[in-house]
Parts: sequence; structure tokens; C-alpha cells
Amino acid sequence: MKFRELGKTGLRVSEIGLGCEHLDGKPYAQVEATINAALEHGVNIMDVFMPGREIRENIARALGNRRKEVILQGHIGSSDIRQQYDISRDMPTVKQYFEDALRIFGGYIDLGMMFFIDSDEDYKNVFETDFIKYVEHLKKEGYIGHIGFSSHNPSTAIKVINTGLPEMMLFSINPAFDMLPSEEYIFDHFDSGFAPDLFRGIDPKRAELYKLCSQKGIGITVMKTLGAGKLLSPEHSPFAKPLTVPQCVHYALSRPAVASVMLGCQTPEELAAAMQYFDLDDSQKDYSDILGTMRNDFKGNCVYCSHCQPCPAEIDIATVIKYLDIAQLDTANIPPSIRSHYKSLAHNGADCIECGNCESRCPFSVPIIEKMAEAERLLG
Ligand code: SF4
Ligand code: SF4
Repeated sequence: MKFRELGKTGLRVSEIGLGCEHLDGKPYAQVEATINAALEHGVNIMDVFMPGREIRENIARALGNRRKEVILQGHIGSSDIRQQYDISRDMPTVKQYFEDALRIFGGYIDLGMMFFIDSDEDYKNVFETDFIKYVEHLKKEGYIGHIGFSSHNPSTAIKVINTGLPEMMLFSINPAFDMLPSEEYIFDHFDSGFAPDLFRGIDPKRAELYKLCSQKGIGITVMKTLGAGKLLSPEHSPFAKPLTVPQCVHYALSRPAVASVMLGCQTPEELAAAMQYFDLDDSQKDYSDILGTMRNDFKGNCVYCSHCQPCPAEIDIATVIKYLDIAQLDTANIPPSIRSHYKSLAHNGADCIECGNCESRCPFSVPIIEKMAEAERLLG
């Protein structure tokens, strides 16, 4: 297992985490076997958005005295009134469900997530009501370690981050969502499928969100990495061919600020299959060819795929460009952390010998030599 820092929370989280939603309704023995397998593979972050008492209790029982080894993402405002998953902003309901989670998981939730902030209305119902006071109270009293939130909408997520309150975010990331124009609501595409003619390269709003997260130290955990399985299916993928699970994981992990991808495994076998990601070489995870099959406006824009490697000067080109992209968001206020990350790279833009090997390999015609020079000018 590999670990990454989850932004300014300072927590070290496993690159692959467990989304526990598919364990809901499963027999205890299956929950226990899956949780045991996750821990044995080094998974140390789990998402428990599900409001049902039985699934929460099954997970807590399976964790037993290993609860403290795990970082739990618990959601504030997730309820299941009338046996249906729902979003609640009604304070007695919100408190009832979250306090139940606290009781079940030992009085503490590591990441207290403000649940499902997708629209302006969600934003108002959280930030202009007692909801936010409750979240701040939970943090102040030590019931939650860090404040986070979940969203599927880049514009709303940017607004939430700009409140200065959250330290991390759970966001839906995969190549298809990233290329949907941000005015499209992703859930509209789950049932009807992705219409390929909507796609036009990585949506600028989403790209802006990822860069903003890097700039402000907002760590990202990822949901919907496989687009509800649609990206793996020849029939439903918007690309010329389906992606594989490792390609989807690699895509998410190569977005700026992403720390962990939460995979919804429901058996030890599924977990073991997901962990094969760490045994693959770069060519087996490379998604650039498939992204290149779309009608797109990528030309000149780096998607951080690393298809341009190897570089004779041993520059990690995608990482240098990632830092450059963040710096270019606001060149007058480049975050010191970005400059120091850039400088601590073993090789950076200053080492470019302008051989051009990378440019001939880049499927997206990124002017890499120019970018290396610009990175050195702004960050060196
Ligand atoms: S420069 Fe091109 S090949 Fe290299 S990481 Fe960026 S998009 Fe991929
Ligand atoms: S042009 Fe620069 S960045 Fe590209 S492969 Fe050559 S040395 Fe590396």
C-alpha cells in the first residue's frame, strides 16, 4: 500500500480506501471478511456515508479494537427516513443520525463530512442555518477531527472551499465526469448513459477546482471513480473503448490534491483485485490513449498522464506541470508550499535539456519545453 497526505488535515491515508456502501444489507460474515481483508491490505481510510444502523454496527463490530487504526469518513446530514437514503438539514434529524454514528464508532469520527452539497440551495441550507453551527460545535468539542464535505458539483465545491472552513473534500472524479461541461448534472447521466457529443475536453471548472484544492491544501478523497461501472462497459463508455479499473484509479490519483480513491468493494476477492493496481507498471495504468479517442479540446492542456516519460533529465514532467498550473492560478500569490514542493523535486524545469523527446510522445501536444522554462521562471 502507498500512502499520501490528505491536505492540511495532515492525516496519512492509503491511496486506495474502502467505500463501504456495497456492504449495506450484506450478512455480517461478509462485512467482517471484507473489512479484515481491507486492513490486511493496508487500507486505513473508510467511507461510511450509509445512515442505516445495522451496517454501521456491522462495520464497527468488524473493526473491533482496530477502530483507531482506521480513518473514518462519517457524513453529517445523511439519513434514511422511510428506509430511503436521504439528505437531511432538519437539525433534530441531523443530530439523531450523527450522534448515532458517534455512539457506534467510539465517540469520534475522524472526518466529519457535510453531506452532499451540490446546489446553491444545499449551500444555503448548510451555511446559512444552524447546520454549520452544529458542525463547528462537533469540531470544537472534539467529536470530529476535521471538517470535510462531499459534492459532485465543481462550482458549488469551489464556493464551499472559499468559506475557509473545510480541510478536505469527497468529490466524484473520473475521466467522463471531468469532461462533462460543469453545467451538466452528473446524476442525469447515470441512467441515460453518457452522450459522447457533450464532451469537449476537461471542463475548466473542474480543473479550477483541483488546482484550488492544491493551492489551499484541501485534500481530496474520490468517489465514483468507475462512473458506477459505466466506464468499464463497452456499451456505456463515452470513449472508443472501455477503461480498466487500474486506469480509472490511476486517472483519479493523478489529479492534483487527490489523496485517496474510495473503491466500493464488497468481498475480499474484489479488494484483492483492486490491490493489483500497485503491482502494475505504468504502461498498464496509462489512460492517455483512451482519452485521446474523444473529440476534445485537450490540445495544449496537460492531463497529467505521464505518457511523455521517460525524460533523459529524469524530470517528473506531469508533476512539474501540475505545480506550474497551480502557480498560474494567481502568479502574484503563489503558495509557498507549491514553491517548496517544486524545489524539493530531484529534477525540475531547470534540468530540461530541450531534447524534445517528451513532446513527440505527448498525445495532447503540450508545449512541454516551454512549460519547463515557465515553471522554472515562476517557481525556481
Ligand atoms: S505533457 Fe502530455 S504526456 Fe506529459 S503528462 Fe502532460 S498530457 Fe500527459
Ligand atoms: S525536452 Fe526537457 S522535459 Fe522533455 S524529455 Fe527532454 S529534457 Fe525532459
